[in-house]
Amino acid sequence: MADFVVIGAGFTGLACSRRLAELFPTATILVLEADRIGAANSGRNSGFLLDISFYDDPPPAIRAARTRLQRGGLEELRRVVSDYHISCDWQARGHLYAAITDDEDRYLSRLAVRYADAGAPMEECPADRVSEVTGSSRFLRGLFHPGTVLVQPVALIRGLTTSLPGNVQLYENSGVRRLERRGSVIVVQTDKSRITAQKVFVCANGGTPGLGYGKNRLLKVSTFAAMTPVLDGWPGAFGEAESFGLLPTLLGGATLRKTKDGRLLVRQGAAFTPAGCPSAAEFGRFSEQARATVKRLWPELAKVPFEFIWSGVMSLTRNTGQVFGELAENVFVSAFCNGAGNTSGTMAGKLLADLSAGRSSDLLSDQMSLPSPRWVPPDVICGFFVNRQIAAENRKLEEVCEMTDLEPILSASTARALPWTPG
Ligand SMILES: Cc1cc2nc3c(=O)[nH]c(=O)nc-3n(C[C@H](O)[C@H](O)[C@H](O)COP(=O)(O)OP(=O)(O)OC[C@H]3O[C@@H](n4cnc5c(N)ncnc54)[C@H](O)[C@@H]3O)c2cc1C
Repeated sequence: MADFVVIGAGFTGLACSRRLAELFPTATILVLEADRIGAANSGRNSGFLLDISFYDDPPPAIRAARTRLQRGGLEELRRVVSDYHISCDWQARGHLYAAITDDEDRYLSRLAVRYADAGAPMEECPADRVSEVTGSSRFLRGLFHPGTVLVQPVALIRGLTTSLPGNVQLYENSGVRRLERRGSVIVVQTDKSRITAQKVFVCANGGTPGLGYGKNRLLKVSTFAAMTPVLDGWPGAFGEAESFGLLPTLLGGATLRKTKDGRLLVRQGAAFTPAGCPSAAEFGRFSEQARATVKRLWPELAKVPFEFIWSGVMSLTRNTGQVFGELAENVFVSAFCNGAGNTSGTMAGKLLADLSAGRSSDLLSDQMSLPSPRWVPPDVICGFFVNRQIAAENRKLEEVCEMTDLEPILSASTARALPWTPG
């Protein structure tokens, strides 16, 4: 019998189990992870630890609560990385937003107002400054926010795992199939075992509806990423900065990073994937989009091959709402951190442990004040609307990017579908 079982070893589940171990140092805590550590979203993302994010425009009180939670999550990660000397290319460098089109330029102005309203620092970056940092002269202008930290996410997730307190045991390749109540305890069923627990913490993000919670609330939309080899020796390799992170101004745009070891990472595109995995055709479309983005921004890098190409499911909700709370007796759930879950998931996981222990705090009140996800229709109807929006984003991209005359790149079937290798 375990005291606590935590399902999922992403940012949310790891923060939850660490906090449980702090609060209950003699408790037996098991973490069950369906995949290998770092192979799921928390390891395969773009590595932005955001202290604030604005892709929607919620009421001011919700925006303020979300910002406090993201900052709390970032501080928690900073503390653990520093206390345990986790080597994860931690770079407190901030990030850029930059505009290529007039539309994006207008959006930058709106973004600047939202950051100012939230009291968050944001500096204007004229085109020549963006060009110095990124090496691309295609940007019209940019905004710089200093609060973001960039990391190598697989290395961070592995470091968070190996630094867990001694009373936490973690099992990989241990997907939970079912939860069953037996009197006052819960039986957790995996393919290989049945574990009885006093309390269960579901931190499985996209896997949550499969365990009976958050059904008809989740939009499984995949996004894609590709990374070049180290660019030493390529003529005109981009930018003066040792590294940088650039977020798109509009949702359909590309996230770009120059990593500390000198690779270019492009995260772009979307596909509605209720079954969890994009098709070969969707990978193919992304390959062309990523190639066109590189060619447009850094023409001299147009022939650089991608060494890695992969996708991951963003667990989105219609209103960026989250599932959070004790949803059945002794079953605690935190799910659907939408596109910026590295910091918000960390905070939510920690607060879920606090909630189960009956602790209160201003941050827990903030978390409880966030809206629940709105209902979504069945996949076939959702697919129609989401695909229509994705097609519109793709058309917009194709208008601004030259999608013809592209060098072939590593195809999805031959590319190693791996997230980042540890640093
Ligand atoms: C390509 C890409 C780029 C992104 N970039 C960023 C970024 O730069 N910054 C940012 O903040 N966010 C980013 N995101 C989003 C971010 O990855 C997620 O918000 C974050 O990983 C959420 O953490 P989590 O722990 O809640 O969920 P997850 O990371 O999804 O972790 C849930 C875990 O539960 C496991 N699981 C699921 N079902 C079960 C089950 N039945 N039994 C056992 N285990 C189970 C999964 O395998 C997984 O490891 C990106 C996402 C993608 C796909």
